[in-house]
Amino acid sequence: MLKYLSLAVLSTLITLGTATRSIPRCGATDPADYDSRDVYHRDVVIIGGGSSGVYSAMRLRDHGKTVMIIEKQDKLGGHAEAWTDPPSGTPVNIGGVVFATPPRTFVDCTTGTVVDFTEPDAAAFAVALDKYSSHLSEFPALQDSFNMTYPVHPDLLLSFGEFVAKYGLGDLVPQVFRYNQGAAPLLDISMVYLFKYLNSGEISSLKQGFLSVNCHSVTELYRRAADGLAHDVLFDSTVVGMDRSLPEEVRVAVQTPAGLKLVIAKKLLSTIPPVLANLVGYDISAEERTLFSQFFANGYYTGVLNNTGLDPGAALVNHAPGRPHGIPDLPGIYAMHSTPLPGDRFLTNVFYGSPAVLPDDEVKADIVKAIHRYQMENGLPVTRPDWLTFSSHSPLISWWPMERSPTASTTDSSGCRGGVILFIMGRRGIRMSLVRCGGLLITT
Ligand SMILES: Cc1cc2nc3c(=O)[nH]c(=O)nc-3n(C[C@H](O)[C@H](O)[C@H](O)COP(=O)(O)OP(=O)(O)OC[C@H]3O[C@@H](n4cnc5c(N)ncnc54)[C@H](O)[C@@H]3O)c2cc1C
Repeated sequence: MLKYLSLAVLSTLITLGTATRSIPRCGATDPADYDSRDVYHRDVVIIGGGSSGVYSAMRLRDHGKTVMIIEKQDKLGGHAEAWTDPPSGTPVNIGGVVFATPPRTFVDCTTGTVVDFTEPDAAAFAVALDKYSSHLSEFPALQDSFNMTYPVHPDLLLSFGEFVAKYGLGDLVPQVFRYNQGAAPLLDISMVYLFKYLNSGEISSLKQGFLSVNCHSVTELYRRAADGLAHDVLFDSTVVGMDRSLPEEVRVAVQTPAGLKLVIAKKLLSTIPPVLANLVGYDISAEERTLFSQFFANGYYTGVLNNTGLDPGAALVNHAPGRPHGIPDLPGIYAMHSTPLPGDRFLTNVFYGSPAVLPDDEVKADIVKAIHRYQMENGLPVTRPDWLTFSSHSPLISWWPMERSPTASTTDSSGCRGGVILFIMGRRGIRMSLVRCGGLLITT
């Protein structure tokens, strides 16, 4: 339906000197409608220029393939982003970030009270992590795909909370909460996702240390990638039409600041969050629409504040005494910590999560309330924190809810529209179907 809405936009004429040529209808996918200069031929068209899209583009180019990325923003990187403090020029990551030092203070953010909680020590964590790794190793196919062996192992249909209880992995939970932010509600997420999230790569990083960029700005990586990819990225661009019905090629109509363009490619790789609002312009079938409408997406937000009144060394983690493993109910803060700047200045980084996407203003107000609760509860002066930057990383992850049964089956390849991988998870029996016909890969 949505693709037809865009088709309703009428063609107009422009005058080029004495000649006129028609502008293609918005969403048109027939190359005959386009000036040949507005048609790009590539091996692979990639929708989304975040880490997945940029990495894929670079690897494909390494293998001699031509690519075109379609990115709605004016920069690459997606969730990987940094903000620069104007006075000092100091970059502060507000996207991909790894905590350099363990947080020291646990706070019940619903009250602002400092909680007497000690995380499981390194040895206990290591033992739990090894136990977890041995379970993870039973599912090697899950590391790089969602390919299942059938019947699906019952452990994959457990929630993380149930899995922890079954195998006595409580010593893992507080650190998983800190390191795997955005996965909310953490204890209710099915193991098929948790195994993807807390994967072998993250486990070796937890043991050996994470890689980080020297200049502290992850944005720099993507700025350089943009230089390298040069004309193989369409910035500020969105998909307005798509045709996956042709056997040899896929056609994608793109609205760019320089007008409508058509990308014709042998394959299409979609790396954007697969929520319906994002798939406007895609030629999704009724069946695909039904399925994608049932994914839910987490909200995840980061920001940098001034004048929070927190200690320059503050490193606060939300902790809920009385809740299983101390994991707080979200929406709420994950953590707040101070970032030092030259000249004895410091700012406060904040990380906030929600099982559903929330309005930005609501999140900002809730964060400031939590800061005030902490100030009042701990005898600090009540300040008026200033937002220096705020970033919504929502939707962060799209999940198939554990409790929901599938309403559509995609095992019949006759319904396949050029290669869609769909994941169907539920509690009873096999709830996962995989359809892969080559053409469109939707990653989740
Ligand atoms: C605050 C934060 C901290 C994190 N810390 C770490 C960390 O320390 N280590 C780590 O490994 N991971 C971390 N992650 C996770 C990691 O950043 C993400 O897993 C990764 O960036 C996801 O990349 P992606 O390309 O799949 O998706 P995205 O980054 O979401 O990229 C998707 C891209 O598609 C574009 N797009 C969306 N819709 C459309 C559309 N309709 N048309 C065209 N373009 C579109 C977006 O603008 C975006 O550029 C963190 C994430 C966040 C939010």
